[in-house]
Amino acid sequence: MGETEAMPEPASSLADVPFLRLSTDRATINEIDALIAFTVKQLGRAGFADPEVEPILARANAMLTAAAGRCDEDLPPSDAYLVRRGGQVILRCYHNPAHEMVMQGR
Ligand SMILES: [Zn+2]
Repeated sequence: MGETEAMPEPASSLADVPFLRLSTDRATINEIDALIAFTVKQLGRAGFADPEVEPILARANAMLTAAAGRCDEDLPPSDAYLVRRGGQVILRCYHNPAHEMVMQGR
């Protein structure tokens, strides 16, 4: 067995992601959080339909972009985006290697 990196705790709000910088207000963050939570809930349901989830996640991503979501864990700061991976919603950036955080519903 090799060494394993400790996985960070999933974040229930974008406001709790240490590497994420946002230029928006709390109400908008709450709205994006709600879209993420809805997506996570849908993914957790047996027999969920992809077409149901993708537009919601796309809307969350559009709002994240509008809020100038950036990862500042490395320089220069990188755009941050949401992606579905299996049953999880991941916040990640374009740094190499990418910084990631598993998002969870509230
Ligand atoms: Zn990054």
